[in-house]
Amino acid sequence: MSAVVNDTRPTLAVWKFASCDGCQLSLLDCESELLALAGKVNIAHFTEMSRATIDGPYDISLVEGSITTPDDVERIQQVRANSRVLISIGACATSGGIQALRNFARAGSFANIVYANPQYLSTLDDSTPIAAHVRVDFELHGCPIDRGQLLEVLVATLVGRRPVIAGHSVCQECKARSTVCLLVRRSVPCLGPVTRAGCGALCPSIDRGCFGCFGPSDSANTTSLADRLRALGTSDVALFRLLQTFNAAAPAFRDEAVRATTTSVTIEQSEGGTKGEGGS
Ligand code: SF4
Ligand code: SF4
Repeated sequence: MSAVVNDTRPTLAVWKFASCDGCQLSLLDCESELLALAGKVNIAHFTEMSRATIDGPYDISLVEGSITTPDDVERIQQVRANSRVLISIGACATSGGIQALRNFARAGSFANIVYANPQYLSTLDDSTPIAAHVRVDFELHGCPIDRGQLLEVLVATLVGRRPVIAGHSVCQECKARSTVCLLVRRSVPCLGPVTRAGCGALCPSIDRGCFGCFGPSDSANTTSLADRLRALGTSDVALFRLLQTFNAAAPAFRDEAVRATTTSVTIEQSEGGTKGEGGS
């Protein structure tokens, strides 16, 4: 349904590609701030919120999800052409998401396992981030994104300044909340030293190592952390699995995971094959 609205507020559109909708829900989760935000922007396209749609072009587009089909490739070009500012939100949109695990498998191997008639599928071999296809003005990381960071990005964009989003690691957030380091104290495998802050060090605060939801931090030295974890007894299989989750295709995580597979035949044999050895 299309609505013509006489409104001078900047327009905001929210787009979904391959994703679970969790990052879009972070916008709805803004609750009390959402009303104030709605006073400043005209939410022109957001199917999680309303069927009403206002035709573009749009001042700001938030893009959730990764590119996984030929149709996605065409659609993201249209979104870019219709958007003054394009912001990719979440691990799917910024690194390819957990669905990028298929990038490590032989083409079609997962589809053949999951679907009875995979010949009807039309998918790309790899799951790729938005920035691999179009110019992106800002990337907001996280799985899901943090609503406070989302509001900061929207407000900064509306007033024309650079968003202030931390690029340091989760370890600093641990220190800020006085959480005793799990890695140092109990040799718990933790990706905090190489993961971008944003979650408030939630997992370490409840006695679990960081899973890397916000992707690699600025200047992440994943090789150094991996070597330290190995020295503390983490196997290559465990290391591979730790790195291969929400940001599997982020280069700083992907490259170290690939290094782990070169010493682990077990993963190759037990999980259907990787591209690193004999794959396509
Ligand atoms: S980044 Fe995580 S929460 Fe956001 S859409 Fe992807 S899977 Fe869902
Ligand atoms: S528990 Fe993890 S995130 Fe927290 S300080 Fe230790 S290594 Fe860093």
